[in-house]
Amino acid sequence: MTAGTDTVAHLFAATFGGSPAGFWRAPGRVNLIGEHTDYNDGFVLPFAIDRATTIALSPRDDRRIRLVSTFDEAVVESDLDAVEQRAFTGWSAYPLGVAWAIGERRGAPATHGFDVAIDSDVPVGAGLSSSAAIEMAVAVALNDVWGLGFDRGDLARIGQRAENIAVGAPTGIMDQSASVFGQADAAVFLDCRSLAVEQVPLGFDAAGLVLLVVDTKVEHSHATGGYRDRRDACERGAAAMGVAALRDLSVDDLPRAQELLDDVTFRRVRHVVTEDARVLESVAALKAGDLVRFGELMDASHVSMRDDFEISVPQLDAVVEAAQAAGAVGARMTGGGFGGCAIALLPADEADALAADVLQVFAERGWREPVSFTVIPSDGARAL
Ligand code: ADP
Ligand code: MG
Repeated sequence: MTAGTDTVAHLFAATFGGSPAGFWRAPGRVNLIGEHTDYNDGFVLPFAIDRATTIALSPRDDRRIRLVSTFDEAVVESDLDAVEQRAFTGWSAYPLGVAWAIGERRGAPATHGFDVAIDSDVPVGAGLSSSAAIEMAVAVALNDVWGLGFDRGDLARIGQRAENIAVGAPTGIMDQSASVFGQADAAVFLDCRSLAVEQVPLGFDAAGLVLLVVDTKVEHSHATGGYRDRRDACERGAAAMGVAALRDLSVDDLPRAQELLDDVTFRRVRHVVTEDARVLESVAALKAGDLVRFGELMDASHVSMRDDFEISVPQLDAVVEAAQAAGAVGARMTGGGFGGCAIALLPADEADALAADVLQVFAERGWREPVSFTVIPSDGARAL
């Protein structure tokens, strides 16, 4: 038993008594490149990280559901009637939302409840998708114990429905896809229109590189309004250009877009169109083992988000500048923007120095203390 399973085994025994039917684990994720492309039917390239949610779960003979998490040790009591009525409160909306979404996808509500104990080392709200980790851990577990036979694509869609409908967060399917399709030493290349998935080898380790994540601790205070505004601009741009989604435009269409659109809308469109192109070129570069080119694409992605999409903040720009000064192969903000994390791909023996530089820069400017850590491309959701 590993450390994570120990914790949930004890929590399960202490809360519900006895041993669980099994243990399951699902990771968080980081997005390497492809930002604000998901809702434009475009491309993303996340990987599953070595931080995950671990659960111990047993099916029950009745309709009750009991949940406990190290996140908040109060035991939540619910049942399948509440699930069908989508009557959820607090964090239990994530696991219970998955149970609801499974029923929706099967076209038949669940008939048996379950007990589940949950632990996670994915930082919550840091942009590494602790939400997809808990959803996918519960989804693979229920798929197994209820004998449902859903494939990984189904499970990702179930997690997205839980997040959209049960939790009420209007998110795409990237996080869940990364969490279920993740593979050690590989990224998950996802086409957000067809939902086709391809694992792309990364080779960071063999090249002596690591990916450092810097959580700027800047809250996404304008995130909701900013996100809505960017989505609206993309929809406007696509409509004016006569396409279903910005995915349908290429860089060759940009001169026409510049003539047709106002300056702000044009720059929003240019970010998405060039970002899609950068994801495709990244996949080609990684397949060719050209990490230098991949790093250049990361840098270009950051500039595009900063200047065209205007979703960066000074703290994110400062991390990217420090990374470039420290000799990183590439660096960019990651996630929806307006705060959150930046990532840097750099030689393993430079990571501590960059983390120290970033601390110093933030202290000098009187910013909140950032938190830095490396992440390793890891396997996706699974039974243990
Ligand atoms: P993130 O960027 O980490 O996905 P979200 O706001 O999307 O941030 O999701 C975080 C929420 O997910 C938490 O507030 C909590 O409700 C739920 N959550 C995540 N991990 C756990 C856990 N281990 N136990 C209980 N709830 C969790
Ligand atoms: Mg989330």
